[in-house]
Amino acid sequence: MQQTEQGPIIRQRQRELVQALHQVLPKHSILYHEEDTRPYECDGLTAYRQLPMVVCLPEDEAQVQAVLRICSRLQIPIVPRGAGTGLSGGATPIADGLVLSTAKLNRIVRIDALARTARVQPGVRNLAISEAVAGHGLYYAPDPSSQIACTIGGNVAENSGGVHCLKYGLTVHNVLRVRVVLMDGEVVELGSDALDAPGLELLSVFVGSEGMLGIVTEVTVKLVPKPQVAKVIMASFNDVVTGGNAVAEVIAAGIIPAGLEMMDKTSSRMVEPFVHAGYDTDAEAILLCESDGTAAEVEEEIARMTAVLQQAGASAIAVSQSEAERLRFWSGRKNAFPAAGRISPDYYCMDGTIPRKRLAEVLTGIAVMEQKYGLRCANVFHAGDGNLHPLIMFDANQEGEFLRAEAFGAEILELCVAVGGTITGEHGVGIEKINSMCVQFTQTELNAFFAVKKAFDTAGLLNPDKAIPTLHRCAEYGRMHVRNGQLKFPDLPRF
Ligand SMILES: Cc1cc2nc3c(=O)[nH]c(=O)nc-3n(C[C@H](O)[C@H](O)[C@H](O)COP(=O)(O)OP(=O)(O)OC[C@H]3O[C@@H](n4cnc5c(N)ncnc54)[C@H](O)[C@@H]3O)c2cc1C
Repeated sequence: MQQTEQGPIIRQRQRELVQALHQVLPKHSILYHEEDTRPYECDGLTAYRQLPMVVCLPEDEAQVQAVLRICSRLQIPIVPRGAGTGLSGGATPIADGLVLSTAKLNRIVRIDALARTARVQPGVRNLAISEAVAGHGLYYAPDPSSQIACTIGGNVAENSGGVHCLKYGLTVHNVLRVRVVLMDGEVVELGSDALDAPGLELLSVFVGSEGMLGIVTEVTVKLVPKPQVAKVIMASFNDVVTGGNAVAEVIAAGIIPAGLEMMDKTSSRMVEPFVHAGYDTDAEAILLCESDGTAAEVEEEIARMTAVLQQAGASAIAVSQSEAERLRFWSGRKNAFPAAGRISPDYYCMDGTIPRKRLAEVLTGIAVMEQKYGLRCANVFHAGDGNLHPLIMFDANQEGEFLRAEAFGAEILELCVAVGGTITGEHGVGIEKINSMCVQFTQTELNAFFAVKKAFDTAGLLNPDKAIPTLHRCAEYGRMHVRNGQLKFPDLPRF
């Protein structure tokens, strides 16, 4: 998607907004010259770009309130932004809108080692929380592969997951309380420092709401003790179907590994020259199964998982013999996305979730689609929770390849829905999967989502056109279905 030229109306609105912002923010926190706003033109979904009208970087909650009040008065749409690592275009700017960056809200406010909680501002990086509490023998469990860069505010908005979420839960299970500024500037707290809070359970409505309900200004997260020991099994399989079935067997045996990830041969061959993780590059699929706990617990669980994997048809099994080797085994999985960037000019990372027992069938379906669209696809995924990340490789400079990649991605999501899964697991809907929402949900359900949005944000100014498709959009999608080889429809007016 291309940015549009700034017309006179936008320039007039820009002047008005900048003038108002200067009343409440320091000068250095307001960006509106093209050379300053250009770095904000996209998030991790780089195929979609749009220069924002203005970017602001508030330094405290009072400034966030003031900015939202101004935008309410001037009817300016707002796109919240953390680190911009999102993969579904949730932080893609709007031409006549404001990007509100949380980059300066980056303080760890309080660590309570006894209660095992930390209160942090939204711009704190995910990994920085674990680093800050490491001295107490604690860590923050949800670990997106982007954890070195992504922020806790972004994690809350996307309900992010990671390798350890199979055992320890997603963001929603690890957040106790959020402070939020609503569009009219009011501050509300959802959740509490305890496990329950009086009133409606709005915390889980808010987590995963993709910046459409309010701006997170503080998050209280749960911390967990660092396990004494962790070991990982690397199991090889001669075909992906056997590997996929082995995932279901591990869970069916009553084991909840600390991580259960799968990579197909394309992926392991893609990452091995990059990070030298020691992967079996002849295997059609490899599984990484982690166990953590006390030394005795880990020894027992590794033995049980080994037996299940052998029974399920593993052709080779290696167990990490040191912490360095464990990290090396994981380094390949954690670097799969950048590794894709080494072998293909562009890649498109999909995110869908399926019932574990349908894994093998979906992988076979994706292989058929590779032929249909003439594009390669590497599969890495959080296999334990059925969350797929097909990486579709393409070259945007080749005529039509991006559209083919988009159509390929949409068909994968339709397959996920057809086998009883969902169109997203952890990356959110954003603009990337907004059409696929029409496949997943009925209009009655979409209306209910809009009603929730309106209850928080009556004028529809927070991250409009993201995550929930209008009836109009779904009708257009029905007519211009990508399966019929037609182009994605043009942008439609926001609701
Ligand atoms: C290499 C790579 C690996 C990744 N691996 C994973 C993974 O394993 N698991 C996973 O879940 N995701 C993963 N992601 C996706 C991404 O990192 C996550 O979605 C992350 O939570 C985004 O955080 P962010 O700070 O970058 O948010 P942004 O991208 O800036 O924003 C994401 C969304 O959150 C909203 N938002 C941001 N801050 C706030 C706030 N304070 N208040 C309200 N709304 C807000 C934005 O409007 C947007 O809709 C990966 C991305 C990359 C590039």
